[in-house]
Amino acid sequence: MAYATINPYTNEVVKEYPFATEEELQAALTTGHALYKQNRKQPVAERAAILHNVAAKLREHAAELARACTIDMGKLLRESEGEVELCAIIADWFADHGEEILTPEKIDTIATGIAEIHHSATGVVMMVEPWNFPYYQIMRVFAPNFIVGNPMILKHAANTPTSAQLFTDIVAEAGAPEGSLINLFLSYDQVTEAIEDPRIQGVALTGSERGGTAVAGAAGKNLKKNTMELGGMDPFVVLGDANMDDVIDIAWRARLYNTGQVCTSSKRFIVMDNVYDQFVEGLKDKFSQVVPGDPLDPATSLAPMNREKAKNKLQKQVDDAIAAGAKVVYGNEPIDLPGQFFMPTILTDIDKNNPAYSEEMFGPVAAVYKVHSEEEAIELANDNPYGLGGIVFAGDADHGAEVAAQIETGMVFVNNFMVSLPELPFGGVKLSGYGREMSHIGEMAFVNEQLIVKTDQPNLDNVAGGLVATDVPTAK
Ligand code: NAP
Repeated sequence: MAYATINPYTNEVVKEYPFATEEELQAALTTGHALYKQNRKQPVAERAAILHNVAAKLREHAAELARACTIDMGKLLRESEGEVELCAIIADWFADHGEEILTPEKIDTIATGIAEIHHSATGVVMMVEPWNFPYYQIMRVFAPNFIVGNPMILKHAANTPTSAQLFTDIVAEAGAPEGSLINLFLSYDQVTEAIEDPRIQGVALTGSERGGTAVAGAAGKNLKKNTMELGGMDPFVVLGDANMDDVIDIAWRARLYNTGQVCTSSKRFIVMDNVYDQFVEGLKDKFSQVVPGDPLDPATSLAPMNREKAKNKLQKQVDDAIAAGAKVVYGNEPIDLPGQFFMPTILTDIDKNNPAYSEEMFGPVAAVYKVHSEEEAIELANDNPYGLGGIVFAGDADHGAEVAAQIETGMVFVNNFMVSLPELPFGGVKLSGYGREMSHIGEMAFVNEQLIVKTDQPNLDNVAGGLVATDVPTAK
């Protein structure tokens, strides 16, 4: 797909961008690789100072960045502003903590001398990112890898090219050396070509199972380490003794934030029978209060979806769900505006054979299930191909945490909205992917965990097992 900013509120083609040339890709690989070699000699503290400057520049240009993000993919301006600030928080956190995370770790060993694991850069990382958080998705990979010293080539989504270029410009303006982050409007074939190149040493993708399968396939074929942050059908479990005011206040936000286009949106509400009717009524009430309109207008609370294709796909999924027996409790009516709006919708009566039972719906559609026991709630939560996040509401947070521990996902929040912060690892299991972004775990994604064992007194006698000194032939 060609790269273009098409405003999803007005449908206006704002700007088109040509694909990268072969020369641009080769130049990026050469520049990135040269920078990797330089970075290996540079103190981490120098990069930390630049990363703080990236945060400062993001804040300085926040208004311009937020507006561009909203025009690229349609989200509410206040959500774009929040995203820019979150990116600055992430940059500051890795600038403050990144070096400490890289501190060599001593190992208790019977080997002679002092054994340590050092964490160093490995080379250029190819990152492939989605449109739903145009800046934050880049920052989750950029901040930790910049600190480590891995240069990056970015292939962003075809519909958020302006945000991609602005982010890259901010990094350059903050004083990052050339090659730290190179944005290229690559075709799928060029992404594969980059992954095949020996100068690429890591591959990070956030996106769908479709994109993940293709990019992880290329990475696997070329033995390149990779992280995959893929889709989700996060459960939102409501136990019978939960505080229902809190539940309802958070449930609608957990589904409609970013117009429901979040990997960790609550997509399946699993509700105990004694509070089910109250839950459905409460959710209907909240969904009915949102105001569709211009996402740049502060009075708007329902933004358009990111593009026409996404809206059409969601409509087809809802139609198929209804054809397979789902009931529409609220919504699924057209919104009389030219933008790509989708009315918040609540579906119930989804049985196991319904495609909606196991297909991610990436928009403002809530699937609500009634359950009769905690065991049934957990079983339903886990009967899903994905395993990204989840929320549990319980009268008692400790009991909620016991239930959370039985849910097969990478992240669960008890009695609260899910948040993403730099110190918290982000990622999932099953078809939601593998690896973690952010936190100390994310910083280690593409490092060389290099063992260095040092001594001033060689000793061939103390090795038990493994390579024993007497096994080594001596030269005559
Ligand atoms: P997508 O189609 O997989 O696109 C994501 C990125 O991958 C885009 O840059 C896309 O480029 C690229 N891509 C797709 N196929 C490719 C291929 N064969 N070779 C190279 N690049 C390829 O994902 P989406 O549907 O737009 O994004 C929404 C999905 O992302 C949802 O499933 C959501 O749950 C998931 N997501 C996951 C996380 C997480 O952290 N786990 C976070 C956010 C979103 P083009 O735009 O040019 O097609």
